[in-house]
Amino acid sequence: MPLPEVDTAQVRREPVCIIGGGPSGLVTAQVFLRDGFQNVQVLCRDPHVGGVWSRDRIYPNMTINNVDGEFRFSAHPMTPPPDSTLTGGRLRGIDVSRYMEEFHEKHLCIPSDGNTKNEQPKSVVRFNAEVVKITRGPNSKGWDLLVKDTVSGETETFYFPRIVLCTGGASVPVFAEGLAPKDAVKAGFTGPVFHSSDAWPNMKTILDSVGVQAKPDPDAVPGADGQKSVVVIGGGKSAQDFSAYIASQGVPVTIVYNKLEIALAVNKPLPRAIRQSRLMSVFSPHITLNTRIERFLHTTAAGAKMMRKTWERMEEDSHDVYRVPKASPLRITRSLFWDVRSGDEGVKREDSFVSLVMKGKIKVVAPTYVSKYTSRGVETTEGEKLDASAIIVATGYGSSWNGMLDDATMLEIGLSQRVDPKALEEFKWNYTTLSHPPDLAPVPTFADGTITAPGLYRASVPAKTIDRRDIAVNGTMFTSSIGYTLEICANWISAYFLGEAMRLPESPEEAARLTLREFAWSRRRYPEYTGWQNPSVTSTTPFFCAIQAADEMLEDMYLPSMRSGGNWLTWLFKPISIDELGSLGEERSRKRGEMNLNKLQ
Ligand SMILES: Cc1cc2nc3c(=O)[nH]c(=O)nc-3n(C[C@H](O)[C@H](O)[C@H](O)COP(=O)(O)OP(=O)(O)OC[C@H]3O[C@@H](n4cnc5c(N)ncnc54)[C@H](O)[C@@H]3O)c2cc1C
Repeated sequence: MPLPEVDTAQVRREPVCIIGGGPSGLVTAQVFLRDGFQNVQVLCRDPHVGGVWSRDRIYPNMTINNVDGEFRFSAHPMTPPPDSTLTGGRLRGIDVSRYMEEFHEKHLCIPSDGNTKNEQPKSVVRFNAEVVKITRGPNSKGWDLLVKDTVSGETETFYFPRIVLCTGGASVPVFAEGLAPKDAVKAGFTGPVFHSSDAWPNMKTILDSVGVQAKPDPDAVPGADGQKSVVVIGGGKSAQDFSAYIASQGVPVTIVYNKLEIALAVNKPLPRAIRQSRLMSVFSPHITLNTRIERFLHTTAAGAKMMRKTWERMEEDSHDVYRVPKASPLRITRSLFWDVRSGDEGVKREDSFVSLVMKGKIKVVAPTYVSKYTSRGVETTEGEKLDASAIIVATGYGSSWNGMLDDATMLEIGLSQRVDPKALEEFKWNYTTLSHPPDLAPVPTFADGTITAPGLYRASVPAKTIDRRDIAVNGTMFTSSIGYTLEICANWISAYFLGEAMRLPESPEEAARLTLREFAWSRRRYPEYTGWQNPSVTSTTPFFCAIQAADEMLEDMYLPSMRSGGNWLTWLFKPISIDELGSLGEERSRKRGEMNLNKLQ
């Protein structure tokens, strides 16, 4: 039975709430406003827009995995970063932060009557507004949001018929077991201990802790002369960034990790035809293989051999750029092919994490885990004791939905679900590139044998309640093309709320089955990655194949896909541009039979 019809005019008139002022929330709000939603309200806990890229959170050496053109939206251009030709347009945290502020000012601040010249435009974002509880509204319709003003502490409840969760997955710090600040106090450690999310605002305390700060010593070597060092726990991007920053300040630093997140690096910027085309997405197997070349590469023995060599080469080249010795702990990395925890550094830099380790400015203790705090610092699982002046714990983030939604409500809505792993066995992909996978990483199992799994169809709506069209989520698709996929998801959600003609599952049951298939694929493709246990970060993992996932969502909206174009020979190398999405609003309004959106408002 098809999903129930929608009164589009009513949906446009009723208030819609977007929770979160990061990139996902901003683009979702802009797309809704463009599509004629008349009462769009964004609630943002922070005093500024940007989320992870908010001006208070970015740190000076924060370069990102993306290049110019990848982290923006079609409605607004981005000023290219400085030295673009030398760096291949590598973006810095500050570039994204400024862009998100500009985007907000230009697209989400509107004069209240639309044409009063002297009136200050009013933002649709309410800042310092934290959603502390979401419950179903009266008669189980819509949503009651308990909102706290983080400045005054006052709370108020608001009702919204429809909401979109854009709260991201990098705002709730998680300390590995036994490594919370209280555990350090218990062990008698008196130095500062911070989670990586709090490290930047507290950097002065961290640097001063070493006690050599009269003048930072650029030749400082960690551990020399019995000098204490800042200890950073974790091998991810923020652990690497903070270690590099601390070393650059002439302060001794030691990083402890089990596995390092590998960052792709090259000597010279790659041309757009390689860096920003469909090439990488075709080299990685996708849940469906839609083109002849993908079928050749991933289902034949010759293709698999070629792909194995290609992925190994990419890893090896990234080490070779820095001349990393074979026995170096810098080679204890996660697999580029089998894991999503990798980065893209672009062109080799003298001040990068790898450079500084190679120069002896960062001491590495790996592979190991920190098992506990001691009165002098930390101890590894092998019993090695490390003296620390301060400790940064970069062990990840928890779900931004916890607390805001209780477990029972989350299951009732279908944001997450319990799945019997045996149910995943029905889905099979006999790809040659997926032979000999690593073991599945273990995950906590409930007494009945089930595990927690994501519940979102197309990373956007809970499969279980897809027929209600009253809640959606943006920002949980694990993607290497962030601007592109966030904007596509925003369009998909808008089309879904407005009841546009779409290729949707016929029932919640069908949506649930397709969501289960997507989850089975995540487990098959990335067996070592369990980030989906926090569904506010990851509900699907297309990653390198994000562009194929975006194409599928365009096709759901009956819109042309593979927009980068090209002929049978050139399509693979045609650069993908977010500007390809600039006409989506018009294309969708034409499809709805509404040619002039301005008349709707
Ligand atoms: C150190 C670091 C480096 C990263 N590097 C990259 C990269 O190079 N490339 C890339 O593509 N991605 C990167 N990411 C991932 C990053 O999460 C995304 O780039 C992007 O920020 C996701 O946007 P978002 O809007 O979904 O979430 P966020 O940016 O996390 O924004 C969430 C928003 O929700 C608000 N919020 C949360 N809870 C509530 C609540 N209860 N009530 C009201 N508001 C709330 C927050 O205040 C914030 O405004 C990185 C993440 C981290 C932590």
